[in-house]
Order: sequence, then structure tokens, then C-alpha cells
Amino acid sequence: QLGYLPWGGSTELRNRRNEIGLRDDRVELTYAEFDDWTAAFAEQLSEHGLGAEDVLAIMLPNRVELLVAMFAAWRLGAVATPVNPTFTDHEADYQIRDSAAKLVVTARPVASIGDRPTIYVEDMRTSCRREPTVPQPLTSDSLALLIYTSGSTGQPKGVMLDHGNAEAMSDMMARHLGLTEQDHCLLVLPLFHVNAIMVSVLAPMRSGGQLSIVGQFSASRFFEQVERLRPTYFSAVPTIYAVLASLPEDVRPDTSSLRFVICGAAPVAKELLERSQQRYGFSIIEGYGLTEGTCASACNPVDGPRKLGTVGPALPGQTIAIMGSDGTLLPPGSTGEVVIAGPNVMRGYLNRPEATAETLRDGWLHTGDVGRLDDDGYLTIVDRIKDMIIRGGENIYPKEIEAVLSRLDDVLEAAVVARADDTYGEVPVAYVSLYPDARLTEDDLLEHCRRHLTKVKVPERIHIVDELPKNPVGKIDKPTLRHLVRTSTQ
Ligand code: ATP
Repeated sequence: QLGYLPWGGSTELRNRRNEIGLRDDRVELTYAEFDDWTAAFAEQLSEHGLGAEDVLAIMLPNRVELLVAMFAAWRLGAVATPVNPTFTDHEADYQIRDSAAKLVVTARPVASIGDRPTIYVEDMRTSCRREPTVPQPLTSDSLALLIYTSGSTGQPKGVMLDHGNAEAMSDMMARHLGLTEQDHCLLVLPLFHVNAIMVSVLAPMRSGGQLSIVGQFSASRFFEQVERLRPTYFSAVPTIYAVLASLPEDVRPDTSSLRFVICGAAPVAKELLERSQQRYGFSIIEGYGLTEGTCASACNPVDGPRKLGTVGPALPGQTIAIMGSDGTLLPPGSTGEVVIAGPNVMRGYLNRPEATAETLRDGWLHTGDVGRLDDDGYLTIVDRIKDMIIRGGENIYPKEIEAVLSRLDDVLEAAVVARADDTYGEVPVAYVSLYPDARLTEDDLLEHCRRHLTKVKVPERIHIVDELPKNPVGKIDKPTLRHLVRTSTQ
């Protein structure tokens, strides 16, 4: 029995069938109404030939219909692949073809999918024409989702997550956060990302809680939404906290409904978390994970001891270890690759046996992240292996330089990338955005780095920019910065 299915589902979910379960700015539905809608849309999908194990591409902005489509696919035993609705035709086409989607649900015409049957969102059926069919029985092995990685390491790869993964992750998260039917999640992250699906949809749903979908994050509307909807939590990426931290000083919202808020999916400076906590009275818990691990693997506790600067201990049911380059597991305090085991580890990458074999080895998911566990099992992420800069044979972790820059009160966000250099191979270059009214110059920043870093780690150049480039999920877009470094003349 999968806890998050509106048909069946957990006891908590069944108990709240007739209460409001989810809403967006157009509709508000009880779980029973949501369930009926998924049945109606499943009927329509099935008339279009979608059956068990087929793939449905869902290219919609965050709105209730996106979830109706996802659950309708599951009702038929089919697989959902959410596609970023802001993708260009070319990008959408890649995912639709790679996933071999049989059918596409979309809000706008995409030229290159002309050869696939398409259902427009406004044509989605809302009530059944016949007696609803019994949902296909799903097991842990049934494939649920194909989530595409952002492709910062080449072509985007389809991560295969089954219902066993989704069940394990939503259950772990719900327990870890202590979610109950009193909880109410404000969904601000895009639903083509695994974090939004697991932490903001399946976890509250299985707990019988509520979720409010507010469309795209908007700094000017965000606190009005928090005050009006009174959610008990939300999950966001560091960029969102950076935007909130730089709002004018007279923005003093009522955040008393929030039990806690989550920050994850990318590195964050602890100064930013401290500042956001202080200013808005948030209780921020930082977590860490990756799509290949169905979202979260480590997370600071809501009630237990939180350690700022760490991403918390492994979620119960998972094991996190640190592996040396020779494949041995290292003791606490050592730095090495973060490896993960547990029921949340993906089945593999679609159509990519080699990449799968490289990532899933010896019973571990190899994350490509460098980290360290302390004696209490709390994990610190040092950096990504692939982001490491090698200057004249010396390994430099950009995150260390970014952390030094972030200590300055004026610094909002910092990102360090490598620039090719004839003499040293690679040298670090920094990009920094500042808080409004900040006065620091590039020379001040360089001076600060010289005082706090050994010479090899001092960036060769520091650029102050209005805003750092972000990927569609809101993470700092290092590939774009690397491109900028390559093409800039200075
Ligand atoms: P791609 O795999 O194509 O590069 P992506 O990295 O954006 O895409 P995700 O699965 O969303 O795909 O990101 C997972 C990565 O995000 C982790 O491996 C880690 O490097 C980083 N990350 C997540 N949470 C944290 C955190 N709290 N602190 C530092 N890094 C984090």
C-alpha cells in the first residue's frame, strides 16, 4: 500500500478524504475530488492509448493539473516525466524523445512534438464518462517517475525512480519532519524537480496535510502568500533565501504559522541562513540530496540539535559513508566522496547502462560530492568533485573561497569557478553579488581574500555582478559562469 495515493493511501490520507487537500490560485480540492479528477483524466489518457509502463510527458507550470496528470498516469500504471515548461522546443524535444513519451500534456504548442499525441491543459477531462476503472495495482518495482538532471555534466540524464523509491522517500521525509494532518506546505519550487514532488507533495499528502501551489516564486508576492495561506512549512533553494534577505528593511511579515522551513538542493553560506533566521524568525533546517537518491539523504532535525554549516545526519533508513579514492570507507573526520545506500537510491539512468554502472557501484550510490562526517554522523558537504580547481597541482575547493567571501556582511552570493591558465593549468575566479546599498569594491574583496586565504586560493579576479546566473531550479549556474570566464577578455 503506497501512502501517497489518493485512492487507498495512508490512514491519515483516508481520514482526510473529504477535507481540502490541495489548492492553487484557481481551484481548491478535497482529496476525494482530486481522486475523482485523476480517474477522469486517466480515462482520457487511456483513450489516447496510454497504458501501464508507458511514459506521459507533463509540460506544465506549477498548478493542480500537473499533479492530476501525474497521479492519473500512476492510476494506469504509467510513468510520469515532468518537463520544464520554460524549455525551448529543442530542450523539450530532447526529453520527450529520450524518455520515449507516448503522449504529452502541455499548456502551449511545442513545434517539435507535433508528431506525438498532445492534450492541452484546458481540454483535460474533469469527470468520468463511464464507470471509473479500478486503478492498476502498483508495486515498489513499478516505475513512477523519470526526472531529468539539469545536464551540467553533459546531456541531461533521465533518473528512473520507482514507487518503492517514492514511498521510502515520502515516508522518511514525513517522519523526519514530524508531519501530521495539521501541516500545510507552501509549494514554491518547480514540480519538474524531485524536491518539490517528494518534500512538498508526497510527504504532506501521505500525512493527510494540505498543500498550496503558488505558481512561480515571486519575491513581491511571497510573504503575502505566507500571511494569507498560513502554511506550516515550505522547502526552498538558497537563491530564494538570498532574494528574501535582500528585500527592503521595512518588509516585516508575519511568519508565525511556519513551524520550520527547509533549505537544500545547493550549497548555502551559513551567514545567509543566520541572517534569514534572524530577520524573519524562520527556523531553517538545511538538507542535502540528489535526484539519484530520490531527493533528500541528510537533513538537520526539526526538534533535535541542528548544526549550522552541516546538512545534518542521514535520514533514518539510509546510510551515508565517506569513501576514499581507493574505495575504502573512511572514519569520521576524513574527507572523501559521499556515498549513499538505502531504499531511496534510483533504479538507474534511462538508456545509459554505462553511466548507471559508474554511479551505482559496490552497493553504493556515488554522489560525486566531497564530504565529511563528524562523530555525531552530521555531514558537511565540502564541494562537488567536478567543481574542484587544480592550480599548479594543488586542489582548491571553490566552496572554501565562497565561504570566506560570504563572511562579509555586504556579500549576498558568491561563486568561484576555474579559468584556464597557461602557467598554473587552472586559477580561481570569483563572481559576487552584493546586498542593496553595499559599498564594497572588487579590491576590498580581494584584500579580504588575501587576509583569509593562502596565496594559491586567492581568486585571480573578483567580478561584482548584479545577480549570479541561475539554472531553472534556482541553483547558481556554474557552467554559465565557466563560459563567461572563458569568453571574457579581462
Ligand atoms: P546535474 O546532475 O545535471 O549536475 P543537479 O546537480 O542540479 O544536476 P540535483 O540532483 O538536483 O541535480 O543536485 C544534486 C546536487 O546538489 C548534489 O550532488 C550536491 O552537489 C548539491 N547539493 C544538494 N544539496 C546541497 C547542500 N545542502 N549543500 C551543498 N550541496 C548540495
